[in-house]
Amino acid sequence: MDSCCTLPVGSNLSHCSKCHQTFSSLTLFDKHQDVDYDRTPAVVCKTRLTALGLVKDLGGTWCTPDAAISRQAQSVRLAMTRSRRAA
Ligand SMILES: [Zn+2]
Ligand SMILES: [Zn+2]
Repeated sequence: MDSCCTLPVGSNLSHCSKCHQTFSSLTLFDKHQDVDYDRTPAVVCKTRLTALGLVKDLGGTWCTPDAAISRQAQSVRLAMTRSRRAA
């Protein structure tokens, strides 16, 4: 795996070394690439990701709308836990 950009430690995100977009899963990563080995270049990154039904979450990661909602809820919970610990 190419580590051209730094991903959060312990995450299972997929980062594209061609277009430098980060995806919440390998499935979405595969979805954003248009692959055709009869052509040069064989792999072309799709740039209109919203047209694929993807949304960008608060951390700049492309994910499905459902995942974006749960990830945001998760980060809110995390922030609440942190502020409670600090107090
Ligand atoms: Zn890409
Ligand atoms: Zn990158």
